[in-house]
Amino acid sequence: MDHYDIAVVGAGLAGSLAAIALAEAGYRVALIGPEPASSDGRTTALMDQSIEYLKKLNLWDKVQPVTAPLSTMRILDGTNRLLRAPTVNFRASEVGLAAFGYNIPNAPFLDILRQRASETATLDRLTMSAVDFDLSDDKARISLDDGRDITADLLVGADGRRSPVREAAKIAVSTWSYPQTAVVLNFAHELPHQDTSTEFHTESGPFTQVPLPGNHSSLVWVRKPEDAAATLALDLATLSRAVEDRMQSILGKVTVEAAPQSFPLSGMSAHRFGKGRVALVGEAAHAFPPIGAQGLNLSLRDAMTLVDLIGAKADDNLQGDIGDRFDSRRRPDIVSRTASVDLLNRSLLSSFLPVQALRAVGLHILSAAGPLRSLLMREGVHPGSAFHALKDGLREKIGRKSA
Ligand SMILES: Cc1cc2nc3c(=O)[nH]c(=O)nc-3n(C[C@H](O)[C@H](O)[C@H](O)COP(=O)(O)OP(=O)(O)OC[C@H]3O[C@@H](n4cnc5c(N)ncnc54)[C@H](O)[C@@H]3O)c2cc1C
Repeated sequence: MDHYDIAVVGAGLAGSLAAIALAEAGYRVALIGPEPASSDGRTTALMDQSIEYLKKLNLWDKVQPVTAPLSTMRILDGTNRLLRAPTVNFRASEVGLAAFGYNIPNAPFLDILRQRASETATLDRLTMSAVDFDLSDDKARISLDDGRDITADLLVGADGRRSPVREAAKIAVSTWSYPQTAVVLNFAHELPHQDTSTEFHTESGPFTQVPLPGNHSSLVWVRKPEDAAATLALDLATLSRAVEDRMQSILGKVTVEAAPQSFPLSGMSAHRFGKGRVALVGEAAHAFPPIGAQGLNLSLRDAMTLVDLIGAKADDNLQGDIGDRFDSRRRPDIVSRTASVDLLNRSLLSSFLPVQALRAVGLHILSAAGPLRSLLMREGVHPGSAFHALKDGLREKIGRKSA
């Protein structure tokens, strides 16, 4: 029976990236799972911290040509409410960056990861499903659907929302849903986007255009389920006009390039992110609505933390409590991100006047230059860094006063 240091189950974006990062740290890794569908028309915005990690993994040179930079993020109030928020523009140059992040189409991103996995000597790509797990031993045993069994010191569940690994580890989840569906599509437009992403806040949720290379953009349009169903039924010419109207023609004539996809909005959080010899990454651990570009950025931080926790390969660093230690390390980040995305989405949906007022006041404060604006922008691209700097600064001030 083949033995690996680490078995990663699930070869989507989160699993492929985690497997490559763990193999780069010197571990012998099995990446298990069928090839993901090549028809994924979605794009993923990765922020600066994630891009830095892709550079560290020597992936960025291959990925960059298919991406577009996000140099400016603009928020526009597209509601008809009494209390409307001002337009806010965030420029990456204000925090000394060329771009907050980059927008990457999922299909070529997965191709690049597939190619890289095949070239990594310490990574075996097993393109089958895992059908059974035995976690009772001092090693994890994984049964594959070709009848083979393998064992591993650490089992990483990157097998999506319905994670069989999570189930085998008897980790419960909390799930919730929103009365919204995301319509996702890519479109060509007449005018250049100037590397700007524009988010219209509407009564049913955000309508977010994100740049792609050339005069192309992707769109995540969050709507009431019945409106989303009506949008999906439109022919491409009518849909193109609807998108252009909603965007107030800021990018000129719009041409939707292929049929849209839809994703009902829901959230899920595992009660633990690791246990014993199991660690959960990506949507096996946390899933939330596609608002504020959080999902895969958080998944990359799962991978970064796991690599940091186990360190470079040595004889005794894959102990039986690795999952428990991973759980404590990831908890603050995952819990706070899940809560902030939920709050943001609910504040957009709320028809309660004080909530609308708070949102408008918040955006008024952020529309002006100031330390809070700069702090939030830094926190957006390097989560944890700005608040740590603030805490260290305060500690230093308090220390100086009491000295
Ligand atoms: C519309 C939309 C837009 C988004 N935009 C962004 C964005 O801009 N920025 C961002 O950071 N995030 C974004 N996200 C989130 C991001 O796409 C997800 O976090 C990411 O794709 C999740 O990847 P995953 O690998 O965890 O899960 P999945 O993609 O679901 O992969 C799980 C894999 O596990 C495999 N699997 C399941 N069971 C088994 C088994 N028994 N054996 C082997 N393999 C198995 C499946 O076949 C699948 O390939 C968005 C999400 C949506 C829906």
